[in-house]
Amino acid sequence: MHYDVIVIGAGLGGLTCAAALSRKGVRVLVLEKDPHPGGTSYVFRRGNYHFPMGPLSFSYPGYVSSLLTYLGIKEPLEFRRNHFQIITPELDLVYSRPPDELRRALAETFPREKRGLDKTFQELRPAMKLVHDMYLWCPDYLPRKLNPVQEKLVKSEYSESRKTRLTSFSQTPSGEFLRKHLKTKSLINFLGSMGTAEPAMSFLTLALMWHIMSVEGIWYPTRGLHRISDRLVEVIKEAGGELYFGIPAKKIIVEDGQARAVVTEDNTPVGADWVVSNADYKTTFLELMERKAVEPGFRKKIETPPYSGSELCVYLGLNPARCDFRRMRATHLFYGPQNQRKGEKSTEVLGLDGREIEICRWTDNEPNQAPAGYTGLVLRVAFEYDHFARFRTGEKKRLPEYKAHKTALALKLVKIAEQVLPGLGEAIELMEVATPLTYQDWGHRYQGSIAGWSWSGESTATFGRKLLVETPVRNLLMVGIYAASELFMGGVPTAMRTAELASHLILES
Ligand SMILES: Cc1cc2nc3c(=O)[nH]c(=O)nc-3n(C[C@H](O)[C@H](O)[C@H](O)COP(=O)(O)OP(=O)(O)OC[C@H]3O[C@@H](n4cnc5c(N)ncnc54)[C@H](O)[C@@H]3O)c2cc1C
Repeated sequence: MHYDVIVIGAGLGGLTCAAALSRKGVRVLVLEKDPHPGGTSYVFRRGNYHFPMGPLSFSYPGYVSSLLTYLGIKEPLEFRRNHFQIITPELDLVYSRPPDELRRALAETFPREKRGLDKTFQELRPAMKLVHDMYLWCPDYLPRKLNPVQEKLVKSEYSESRKTRLTSFSQTPSGEFLRKHLKTKSLINFLGSMGTAEPAMSFLTLALMWHIMSVEGIWYPTRGLHRISDRLVEVIKEAGGELYFGIPAKKIIVEDGQARAVVTEDNTPVGADWVVSNADYKTTFLELMERKAVEPGFRKKIETPPYSGSELCVYLGLNPARCDFRRMRATHLFYGPQNQRKGEKSTEVLGLDGREIEICRWTDNEPNQAPAGYTGLVLRVAFEYDHFARFRTGEKKRLPEYKAHKTALALKLVKIAEQVLPGLGEAIELMEVATPLTYQDWGHRYQGSIAGWSWSGESTATFGRKLLVETPVRNLLMVGIYAASELFMGGVPTAMRTAELASHLILES
């Protein structure tokens, strides 16, 4: 058996790439480990509810829409804007709004910082403008082989001056920038992390993050995110592509530095001119390939920088009549309860005290995914993989204590959320809990990572601020959120953009 291209994984990255290629007459085979398409951009069912496996919303809807139209999906996508609110002891604000409105609202809460806020936004605004379309002109986000239009753009003087500014922004820590103008810690932390954490990213990433939140917006496709994957499957099949679900790729065969074949779980080798991997980088290079396939220096590069962390997620089916939602003024609420004072030790054994949690009223986006009159709610909190690793005895295998432990954590999280949503505990009709082990064994993400390479700079220090679609193995390309050293457009559009570029590279060859 031989294909032009084998795509490993039917997440949004793999499906987008397979659809783009099969529509051009390329003979494509997609192998997916899960029984469904869409990877983490899909839904699962519990009782009479459906819940999201991963994304709750995403940015750059215009880019996603036009790409899907190009891929032959005729019906127009409609989007609902999602709004974001933060509640901390110092702040209660809906912050998904234009920069000037945001600046004024912050100045009302922090009147002594008015001048500092003016200066902060004066510098932040042009940086946000600079990054808004950088995926179209910045050489770091384009493939090595440029088409003539891209080449002209990249070489223009305009682009040169933009590149110089980008480089300088990327070398400025956002904390340093914010402290230059502002003094109040909670305000600096909010502007630097959209939450309560200390700013850790570069000024460039800060500009990207605020551009997405307050200008581009974060949206949800009203017919459901999972339906994008279902439609892409139809496009691939209509164009003659082949997809197999529940068939994992076990190995990528590399000979003389070139990807030649993929071995399936039942040890069947399938040859291909190209292999495209939608599995993450560490899985692809450390688990699916023999050690000798890449030189040790490159392997070390993959091993060393961490991925973004994982999370604990609680899915709730609710009777809304029993819960007081009045303080929740947006679909997404970030709640940062009082942190312990310096030097004060927490007595709380589960380690949840003081953590910031996200509360998403999922059925605002997907009303039909709960029985009529009921509400689906998702609680998410960043959580370390290592905390759960001891419970994992094999793939999808756990120690018996795991269930009680995750349930205790979930109930504690509900208690914290109840501080802003009185009655929440009483309103629960159904509860399901996902941990980093879930994202490892059902999402197939290395150590349950959820948001690409780490955002704190280790990956950009290793790879540069770059697309990682091309690899040192000839004819092996990567697609999906790990195929870029940072999520320059946010998760879903970055996954699709890397896939679009991978398909171009193959078609141009
Ligand atoms: C809990 C969570 C929350 C998230 N929230 C957001 C959000 O709010 N907004 C946002 O934009 N993004 C979010 N993301 C990121 C989101 O996953 C991506 O934006 C998008 O779904 C990524 O698509 P992908 O193609 O990169 O990868 P994936 O969805 O991970 O798809 C990869 C596919 O490869 C398959 N695969 C892996 N190994 C093999 C193998 N050996 N053989 C065959 N198949 C294999 C997997 O089963 C999977 O189907 C979240 C992710 C998680 C896990």
